[in-house]
Amino acid sequence: MDILSFHRKTNATVDLDAVAHNFELLRQQVAPAQICAVIKANAYGHGDVPIARLLEAAEIPWLAVALVEEGIRLRQHGIKTPILVLGGALGNHYDALIEYDLTPSIFSQEHLRELGNATGSQTKAFHLKLDTGMSRLGLRLHELPGFLDTTREYPNLHLTGVLTHLANADLRDTAQNSKQVALFNQGLLTLEKAGLTPRWRHVSNSAGSLTVDTDHTNLVRIGLALYGLDPLTPPSETPLRPALSWKTSIIHIKSIPAGDRVSYGGNWEAQRPSLIATLPVGYADGYSRSLAGKAEVLIGDARAPIVGNICMDLCMADITDIPGAEIGDEAVLLGSQGHQTISAYELARWADTIPYEITTGISYRVPRDYSPAIKER
Ligand SMILES: *Cc1c(COP(=O)(O)O)cnc(C)c1O
Repeated sequence: MDILSFHRKTNATVDLDAVAHNFELLRQQVAPAQICAVIKANAYGHGDVPIARLLEAAEIPWLAVALVEEGIRLRQHGIKTPILVLGGALGNHYDALIEYDLTPSIFSQEHLRELGNATGSQTKAFHLKLDTGMSRLGLRLHELPGFLDTTREYPNLHLTGVLTHLANADLRDTAQNSKQVALFNQGLLTLEKAGLTPRWRHVSNSAGSLTVDTDHTNLVRIGLALYGLDPLTPPSETPLRPALSWKTSIIHIKSIPAGDRVSYGGNWEAQRPSLIATLPVGYADGYSRSLAGKAEVLIGDARAPIVGNICMDLCMADITDIPGAEIGDEAVLLGSQGHQTISAYELARWADTIPYEITTGISYRVPRDYSPAIKER
């Protein structure tokens, strides 16, 4: 990975101070609840190990990933903090969960049995996932009594947490949130009647953490907001600082006459004599083809439209109105230059998606630099 950064000048920079700032802000905001930082998908494209190290140094009680393999990777890089695997334990992952001390979120009796059988005479903690309206993973409440019967067969398995996931918290959908929270509380009551009071109770993602009143919980699972992206529509008042920027630089400039076309398919035609800059970034880097005809990049403190189809490794910007632009000049895809900023939200709007897909979509081919710099990753 490092070698790539010495050649092509396309890279993403992660501002670790911004992540630390966001973490501190969110920590104060959600107290007395604590934060479980969601660092799945390479910490939403920001680099799982550097982010995990920063949060471990800040004594965060929990990290969460989607996949067992993401948890293994963190352990292999020396991360000691408890790690929750949100996607559960599937297939033949049970031994790995034990070997790497990962805590699964369990949502079926079958998974519980497999975990219990793999655990044998050792003990193993797990969190129970309830489905209160997302209809994705999780036990429905009517399945809870049967599940609890099965837990009695495995006294070495310890229920240390219970969670659910909100479907519409980002939309400030108060009715849906309340419905889900009420079902969750009902689940807690069922557990309590069975003599179970799990240490960790968690419902909210980033959006829920900033809006949903969850008195019965003591942990929130925060991903997006930690990286400085506001989770709410309309946005919250929380002064989060976006941590990620993404830059490249001009490798070629040409003048073309009016009537010439640019890129595959030729669906952009110069209406005037034009200056076209070629940028070494394309859809294989995560600069989506669906941005074509909409996106702009920052060059010379001005906005230059991306013209023509975005290629696998390259794309073209119209710099006719930026006369001083030269080969080697910086082009900002995401982030700030001079007085201008392109946010992940703006990119997401152009690509008809959400900011999560923008940052997680920046591919392995784009080296991540850190500020302040870190030695290894
Ligand atoms: C990804 C995920 C989160 C984090 O959501 P954000 O909106 O990024 O805060 C929380 N909980 C679960 C179950 C998730 O899958």
